[in-house]
Amino acid sequence: MIEIPMICPRCDAEISVDMASAVVRMDVRPRAEAELLCSCPSCELPISWRIVGDIVVMLLFAGIEPLFLSEPSLPAADVAPALPPLTSDDLLDWHLDLAPIWTVIPWER
Ligand SMILES: [Zn+2]
Repeated sequence: MIEIPMICPRCDAEISVDMASAVVRMDVRPRAEAELLCSCPSCELPISWRIVGDIVVMLLFAGIEPLFLSEPSLPAADVAPALPPLTSDDLLDWHLDLAPIWTVIPWER
């Protein structure tokens, strides 16, 4: 269990932040800065600190698993294929191709 002594910026109480219940948020691009998020055990309000340099490195060496922020991405199955966009002529051709197809509605006899 890793605890970091800090002073709450909201209530000025000396607190000990348990890293098991805190979140270290980092950018995907490697930087020596991060944000530490937790709730104050004294005033129970959410707090965040910008942490930089050696503190970030020490937390990572201590085994803290950071939450990396990146741009949202789609699963590979949901990514549009690299094809030219549909045109109105494509839709008309599709309509003409479907014209001879008869559909059977299950509840019709
Ligand atoms: Zn507090």
